[in-house]
Amino acid sequence: MNNQSPHFSFPKAFETRMENILDADWTKFAQAHTQAAPVSIRVNPKKKFSPELPHVPWSDFGFYLQERPIFTLDPIFHAGAYYVQEASSLFLEQALKQTVDLTQPLRVLDLCAAPGGKSTHLLSLLSNDSLLISNEVIRARAQILWENIQKWGHPNVIVTNSDPSAFQQLKGYFDVIVVDAPCSGEGLFRKDADACKEWSEENINLCAQRQRRILNDVWPALKENGVLIYSTCTYNANENEANLNALADEYNVEFVSLKLNPEWNIETISSNNAIGYRFYPHRVQGEGFFISAMIKKESADRLKLKSNSKLNTPSTKIIERLKPWTLASEQFRWIQQQDLIIQIPESLLNEIDFISKLFFPLGKGTAVAELKHDKLVPEHAFALSNFINTDFFQATDLNESEAIAYLRKDVLAISEGLKCFGLVRYKNQNLGWVNHLGNRTNNLYPANWRIRMSAGINPSPE
Ligand code: SAM
Repeated sequence: MNNQSPHFSFPKAFETRMENILDADWTKFAQAHTQAAPVSIRVNPKKKFSPELPHVPWSDFGFYLQERPIFTLDPIFHAGAYYVQEASSLFLEQALKQTVDLTQPLRVLDLCAAPGGKSTHLLSLLSNDSLLISNEVIRARAQILWENIQKWGHPNVIVTNSDPSAFQQLKGYFDVIVVDAPCSGEGLFRKDADACKEWSEENINLCAQRQRRILNDVWPALKENGVLIYSTCTYNANENEANLNALADEYNVEFVSLKLNPEWNIETISSNNAIGYRFYPHRVQGEGFFISAMIKKESADRLKLKSNSKLNTPSTKIIERLKPWTLASEQFRWIQQQDLIIQIPESLLNEIDFISKLFFPLGKGTAVAELKHDKLVPEHAFALSNFINTDFFQATDLNESEAIAYLRKDVLAISEGLKCFGLVRYKNQNLGWVNHLGNRTNNLYPANWRIRMSAGINPSPE
């Protein structure tokens, strides 16, 4: 073992373990921790933003940036044109493409979903008639998840805030379950000083126990031949291989061997029957990550969805007014919750209704408008929808400083001399709504989404 590890202060026990595992590669691993972490984004294909940047090799949507910009000050980030996401974790795309037919309507659960990296990625990969249930157990994080999901603009989604055990109500329902488990975060040490500070053997054991409980809790919700994708951003075997072997001891599990391009430098791990893939920061342009895909090879009880309840729908007159707002309006149904009108894909209506009754979701479909007397006030989520008929609305193109002022919810100096709700756009991306009142324009950006930073000001924690 060498004693000349470059300067990065690892927890001692972690260092000893990794030196033993990596042997000759330890120095490279330690050196990688003295370099800045690569910056990568994943674009939203529905928003037609395609930067000319080097690709993350295992993802159609991932790109590397030369340096880290202040994303908060990029208006199209707030429009949902891209998501800032660590490159290794984009390998979910390969795990999915190689295990399921993405042209089919799938029922998918993202169990540990906040802040929404995997969920928004899943939405870009799934067909329009698939349904994603995106769940986060911690309430405050579930709110952030719902915000990010709305920015992504897909209507075929429900956001829930439930404990994993709650999904036992949906026995044998899911074609795919993604468990991106809370973990000790060893793979994020160079990005996240707290993960390094909080590291301890005790915490690893707690994480491993929690992960095992999560896997056991959610297993009944997977259908026979359904796919479970398990991932963590840690290297240690207790949280990865050992958990997979424990699952295979208890249930009939077939691990899937994924095809890798040797140039990707991803390490294949075999441990008893378990197969997984490990990403090291000295071998890939990304952070530490672990992922495994497996198939449930046992019969599963199947829940029969029954929903013939009468949904509260807006009046026909209102629906006729809303139809021209929407592209492909024949694919949607509108439902009314108090004064809020929500758009839901027709083919998913009964399922979304059934699941909503069990889980009381934070959000579902796309909120389109609020009914105020007989006025329809457009909802922010609808401005960001991939199904908005932008041509139907009065739209104002903003320059960069106007766009940032809009996102700060500042008073706007634009006036179109009109009286109507209008969209504001930046570089062909919808940012949100304004209310043109003739001689002035009100900024309708949601108060709780507004940015608290000005162009040219150094970023400070918001
Ligand atoms: N999948 C997310 C993404 O791609 O943006 C990241 C998920 S993060 C690795 C793990 C998540 O699990 C966190 O949001 C955390 O709040 C949640 N979590 C914590 N304890 C949990 C538990 N007991 N059961 C399920 N999820 C839990």
